[in-house]
Amino acid sequence: MRAWIPALHRDDAQELQYATGFAHLSFYRFSDDFRMNLSHLLLRSARAYPELPAVAVGTSTVHTYARLADRTQRLADGLRRHFSLEPGDHVALVMRNCPQYVELAFAAWHGGFVTVPINAKLHVREFQYVISHSGARVCFVTGDLFEAIAGLRDELPELQALVCVEDAAYEALLGDAGSEPTDRHPDDLAWLFYTSGTTGRPKGAMLTHRNLLAMTTSYFVDVDRISSGDAILHAAPMSHGSGAYMLPNVAAGAAQVIPASGHFDPPEIYELIRAWPGMSFFAAPTMVKRLVEMPGAAQQDVRNLRTIVYGGGPMYLADCKQALRVLGPRLAQIYGQGECPMTITALAGHWYTQTDHPRHDARLASVGIAHSVVEVRVADDEDLALPTGETGEVLVRGETMMRGYWHDEAATQAALRNGWLHTGDVGTLDEDGFLTLKDRSKDLIISGGSNIYPREVEEVLLRHDAVVEASVVGAPHPEWGEEVVAFVVARAGSQPPPQELDALCLNHIARFKRPKRYVFVDSLPKNNYGKVLKTALRERLCQADA
Ligand code: AMP
Repeated sequence: MRAWIPALHRDDAQELQYATGFAHLSFYRFSDDFRMNLSHLLLRSARAYPELPAVAVGTSTVHTYARLADRTQRLADGLRRHFSLEPGDHVALVMRNCPQYVELAFAAWHGGFVTVPINAKLHVREFQYVISHSGARVCFVTGDLFEAIAGLRDELPELQALVCVEDAAYEALLGDAGSEPTDRHPDDLAWLFYTSGTTGRPKGAMLTHRNLLAMTTSYFVDVDRISSGDAILHAAPMSHGSGAYMLPNVAAGAAQVIPASGHFDPPEIYELIRAWPGMSFFAAPTMVKRLVEMPGAAQQDVRNLRTIVYGGGPMYLADCKQALRVLGPRLAQIYGQGECPMTITALAGHWYTQTDHPRHDARLASVGIAHSVVEVRVADDEDLALPTGETGEVLVRGETMMRGYWHDEAATQAALRNGWLHTGDVGTLDEDGFLTLKDRSKDLIISGGSNIYPREVEEVLLRHDAVVEASVVGAPHPEWGEEVVAFVVARAGSQPPPQELDALCLNHIARFKRPKRYVFVDSLPKNNYGKVLKTALRERLCQADA
């Protein structure tokens, strides 16, 4: 078998520039005439660690590495033969986390097909939109979702087959023998990543074998180490963040552990931590908070826990410190987007222990430094780098930047103009290259001509013991343009008086930034990945005001 590690060359070497505003410049690039396939990562681990657990549900191993590789090769063959799939064809996965997720992702890549993982919690109309828009030829579902997708049959003319992964029909797809992975060009698609769409229709970020291989290898440099025999817990949806973690963990020979409950249940997570040494997992900050606020959390045995990698939304400083107190220095952070998965910046574990550094708190509140395979820039409206300390849009380019949006030239042009991915996030870089995010640009509040970044206000409100969650938005105001409104979830039975919250704000931030109104709610509206829907909060205010 030919070697899978791509030749690295410096043909595209760019002159190193140390202009302010640059966090990093990468100058290596996978050669365009190289051929690759992500499935080599699995085959390599199967040869090196055939007997190690590869996939488990709860504490029970379902497949060793040897068995997983064998099944994926035969499944790839089955996909080709049963459905006449050609390299480049799309395979939709509408599945809750399950062992078949790992098999199907690697089988699809092995055969040269493109996976289209779709969030299992979407509405049936959203399933229809994504399956149809992606042009998927075959769709795999878990039993709970079969009826919903089967009901769309007449509306999905391009969909040739629907297979429930819990049925005999799925096992029957496995052929007698596998074949070699299909050679792929670095820029061939591997994963169509549909954005969570907090506004508008989801868009399909085209992620290539190049993108995902670079993401995988840089994980070890920038985020965390993984050893063979370790474990990754898929506590978050594999259709999104957690799915990307499959790759570095398969590359390292770690077990993919799926909670038996199928969802995020803190007591079960602690139980699985006790069962699997070298455990790591990806979690949204809200999940970390639930874990550390579980009664008795501080008494749990977390010696097996290596790292919780959090990201996908802001981790407030107070919450980060509480997590460190309860779990110990077992955190790392990534900042990424579907369009640049996992790999814009990272705050690796060692930064959390440098408590005597004068900017330690600022670093914990940041999203870390640029990944080694990308350049990160904070830019003005013309995409020019701003000086250190100034606030602007975060731009990124490099090996992990998507190829564009599937069948959406206008959105691609807008997102990738001037060769940079425009993240829509606003932030600042400090002199050491640490990026601090302010907010999504559309969430910025402009009141009386002054910019107010909601996150700054939220950070202050969360210092109050009785505040569990806070989300700050702008409401239309006839005189000021917008006024600051805070939605607050208070601890049960201890709603803080607004004057107390006001006093807290006056102690920490400029007067004009403090909320003019507090709206106490039982919970904040969130999308299926746990991101707060500020658009829904703004709509709620408009309706109330009307
Ligand atoms: P998605 O494409 O659904 O993964 O959402 C990506 C967006 O989530 C980013 O553009 C940020 O707005 C936000 N995000 C991701 N990681 C972080 C992080 N570590 N801290 C704050 N926001 C984040």
